[in-house]
Amino acid sequence: VRAVASSAELAAATTAARKAGRLVGFHPTMGALHAGHRANLAHARREVGLLVASIFVNPLQFGPREDLATYPRDLDADLGICAAEGVDLVFVPSEREMWPRPPGVRLCVGDLAQRLEGVYRPGHFDGVATVVAKLFNLVGPCRAYFGEKDAQQLAVVRRMVADLGFPQVIVACPTVREPDGLALSSRNAYLSAGQRRAAPVLHRALEAGLTAWRDGERDPAAVERVAVKLVETEPAVELQYLALVEPDGFTPPATAEAGQVLAVAASLGAVRLIDNLVLR
Ligand code: AMP
Repeated sequence: VRAVASSAELAAATTAARKAGRLVGFHPTMGALHAGHRANLAHARREVGLLVASIFVNPLQFGPREDLATYPRDLDADLGICAAEGVDLVFVPSEREMWPRPPGVRLCVGDLAQRLEGVYRPGHFDGVATVVAKLFNLVGPCRAYFGEKDAQQLAVVRRMVADLGFPQVIVACPTVREPDGLALSSRNAYLSAGQRRAAPVLHRALEAGLTAWRDGERDPAAVERVAVKLVETEPAVELQYLALVEPDGFTPPATAEAGQVLAVAASLGAVRLIDNLVLR
C-alpha cells in the first residue's frame, strides 16, 4: 500500500487511474481503523479498480469541548489494515496540508444539520461537509463509501452531492457490530469495563423499537417510548436523544413507516456514542 501526504500526488494518482479506465473508490476515515472500516474497504475493493482511503482527523468537525486532542491515532496499525484490505493508496495529509490556513470559505448545511446530532454538536456537519467537499475535489469522480452507522452524516453527504452537483456516487455501507450488538466505533476503546458492559443497551433499545413497529405499532412516539424505557434501565447510560426520523431530512414523521431511521445518542461518562436502525 502506498501512503501519500500530498494533495497533488493524490489527485495525480486518481486522475491517471481514471484515464486508464479504472473506476476509483474512496473511503474517507479519521483512522483508528476497526472491523467496520475494514468491511467498508472490503466492500469497496470488490467494486472498484483503484481503491483510495484517507486518514485525517478533521479539526473543523470537532467542537471546542470535544475529543479532538484525545481522538485515538495509530497510523502504523491503520496502514497495516489498509494493506490487508487491498487499498492501493492511503491519503494521510497533515493538518497543514489540508488546512494551511483556516478555510475562509466553508459549506453551511441547512435544517438537516440542526436536528438530532446538530443540537448536541453545533457546527459539526458544516465541518464534515467542508472536509468531504475538499476530499471529493482532490479525489475526483469516484464511488465514495460511507457507513450507515453515521446516518445523519450520510444524509448530509448525499444532500451535498445532490444540491451542489458533485460527481461522486455515494455508497452506503451497513453498520458492523460486536457480537453483543454494540456498533463498532473508534471511541469504544475509551469505555471502561463497566461502560462497555452497559453500552449494548443502545442497540437492544433500537431493536425493541423496531420490534414494536414490526408488531404493528405506527405511532412514532410509542415506538420511541419502548426504546427509551430500555435505555433507562441502564444507569451508566445517559440518553441524549432517541428519535424516529425521516431518512432524508431527519424530520419527525407523522406515522412510523418503513425506511425511517430510529436514531440514538448517549453519553457513557466522557464517551459519546451514536447508533441507529432503519425500519424494515
Ligand atoms: P470515522 O473514521 O469514524 O470517521 O468513520 C469513517 C467511515 O466509516 C464513516 O463513513 C463511518 O460511517 C464508517 N463507520 C464507522 N463505524 C462503522 C461501523 N461500525 N460499521 C460500518 N461503518 C462504520
